[in-house]
Amino acid sequence: MPHQVKIQKIDFITHDVLQIQTERPTNYTFEPGQATEVALDKEGWRDEKRPFTFTGLPNDDFLQFTIKVYPDHNGVTDTLQTLEQGDQLLLEDVWGAISYQGPGVFLAGGAGATPFIAIFRHLAQQNQLEGNRLLFANKREKDIIMQSQFEEWLGKDFINILSEEESGKYAHGFMDAEFLKEHITDTAAKFYLCGPPPMMESVQKDLENLGISKEQMVAEELS
Ligand SMILES: Cc1cc2nc3c(=O)[nH]c(=O)nc-3n(C[C@H](O)[C@H](O)[C@H](O)COP(=O)(O)OP(=O)(O)OC[C@H]3O[C@@H](n4cnc5c(N)ncnc54)[C@H](O)[C@@H]3O)c2cc1C
Repeated sequence: MPHQVKIQKIDFITHDVLQIQTERPTNYTFEPGQATEVALDKEGWRDEKRPFTFTGLPNDDFLQFTIKVYPDHNGVTDTLQTLEQGDQLLLEDVWGAISYQGPGVFLAGGAGATPFIAIFRHLAQQNQLEGNRLLFANKREKDIIMQSQFEEWLGKDFINILSEEESGKYAHGFMDAEFLKEHITDTAAKFYLCGPPPMMESVQKDLENLGISKEQMVAEELS
């Protein structure tokens, strides 16, 4: 049986990313990096389940999701933006492939940063952010999720690359072999990957060419 939760807050935090805070069911626990399937508790939508990552802290008394909206899919994310405080969501059990296994390099594309939001938030709470670096690929600066929060958490270890904008502030292009070579200083570290399938495939290949083994990689595709 899915867990029925009320939305407590729902706001856009970028032009196309919603942050949603909901009630937390009792005895519903998760590790930073994990996800669940979410459906709208609305006629015609209850069977349309989509995976989303918890971006709050495991000990918060609420749940938080950070969700990129795709209006052209006419799907769940497009409909989510019509919801309001007091509307309900249905949550399935907790699962997910990404968990923190020690300091390393985090590589994210777009909404692929969501498991890393949860992990960094948790590390910040424990004062253990040291030694971690985030390489974050987006199309334009306005697409960067929680830009100022990542800056605050990681400082110079928050490194962006934009494929559709030359800002002077950030690198321009895709997260390719050259970019990775420039920003990876310790090839013995852990490598955490999350993004759309084409990016994951090419980044994984480039990391292997840098001598990084599959065992060092913790990965999840946002398919
Ligand atoms: C483990 C995991 C965790 C995730 N966590 C997050 C998260 O925290 N935040 C986040 O933002 N995302 C996350 N995602 C991605 C998220 O699940 C998808 O973005 C979401 O399922 C999209 O749902 P949707 O119903 O809006 O669109 P979809 O289910 O992608 O599409 C609905 C329909 O639209 C049509 N369609 C599909 N693609 C297109 C297109 N390009 N143009 C036009 N029509 C199209 C198809 O007919 C499809 O059936 C995660 C994914 C995984 C696997």
